[in-house]
Amino acid sequence: FGVATLPVLRAIDLRREGPPPGRWIAPPLARAMAERLKAGEQSLLFLNRRGYAPLTVCRACGHFFECPDCDARLVEHRYRARLICHQCGHAEPIPHACPKCGAPDRLAATGPGVERLAEEAAALFGAARIALLSSDTAIGPDALRAQIDAIAGGGADIIIGTQVVAKGHNFPHLTLVGVIDADLGLENGDLRAAERTFQLIRQVSGRAGRADKPGLALIQTAAPEHPVMRAILSGDEAAFMAREAAARRAAGAPPFGRMAAAILSGPDEARVGAAAQALARAGAPLEAVGARLFGPAPAPIARIRGRWRVRLLVKAPRGAALQPALRAWIAGARPPASVKLAIDVDPQSFL
Ligand SMILES: [Zn+2]
Ligand SMILES: [Zn+2]
Repeated sequence: FGVATLPVLRAIDLRREGPPPGRWIAPPLARAMAERLKAGEQSLLFLNRRGYAPLTVCRACGHFFECPDCDARLVEHRYRARLICHQCGHAEPIPHACPKCGAPDRLAATGPGVERLAEEAAALFGAARIALLSSDTAIGPDALRAQIDAIAGGGADIIIGTQVVAKGHNFPHLTLVGVIDADLGLENGDLRAAERTFQLIRQVSGRAGRADKPGLALIQTAAPEHPVMRAILSGDEAAFMAREAAARRAAGAPPFGRMAAAILSGPDEARVGAAAQALARAGAPLEAVGARLFGPAPAPIARIRGRWRVRLLVKAPRGAALQPALRAWIAGARPPASVKLAIDVDPQSFL
């Protein structure tokens, strides 16, 4: 068959047309899904959150569940009846009573994950066949492949998926894509996160429609005026990239300057802190090549698998001889054996 045409992209402004509290499918999206069901076509709901709910809170005392080893909240996975840490894989059963105050049956799932979205779709469209595509539901790449083939062949009316649906799968009966929370990843002002959100939404939207069946992508957002959202809606990749480049140049971020992140980690918080302070005082070789040293500061995820993490950032002008300067810097304040040092030059992620 022919080349797919780009789908029509439209925003659903959650501030004006949002769903009632505790629900995640806005009425305009639900109406579009009902039309597809009637026509025998497929809808895809995209939400990049695995599990049932990203947060479990006790309604009696406000306690919420966190990983004992990481700075991360435990995500409820209802199918597996577990609370799971997405950083380290720690899993524990979902208790009936709050472990802090002991109140029974007061634990509340807060926010949406794909499992919860599937539940809502089933409540709205009782007769529809719903398929959940997530790295949790398929055991291994072969099972995922088989599941995708079955769905592509028409084995589902509504597909609900995480980012596993974004790439390369061809669903010939799919004519509607609903992006449930387009604002995920935009809130922290991280340029790379904005870029990832842009790419992901473009990829997912591109799943809808083909030559003889034009697609529609409805994008639920509380910030349709956000520059990234405007670029997504206008389909204007060049404008988005130009804006990104300008923002990066202003921030001295790669490729307009060079950056290195030094992450120190270890089981003893005080030793990690002392090693970081020693490195901060030994920055002369960096200054000699025009680089600036920032930190130490707790890494954005300050604890993973029980190890404390502290970060220093080095920003250097483009063309600076950064590698030898980094080597000289570390040689001047090498951390003790109990503290691990990882250097990432022009890092892809600052987590
Ligand atoms: Zn409680
Ligand atoms: Zn963990």
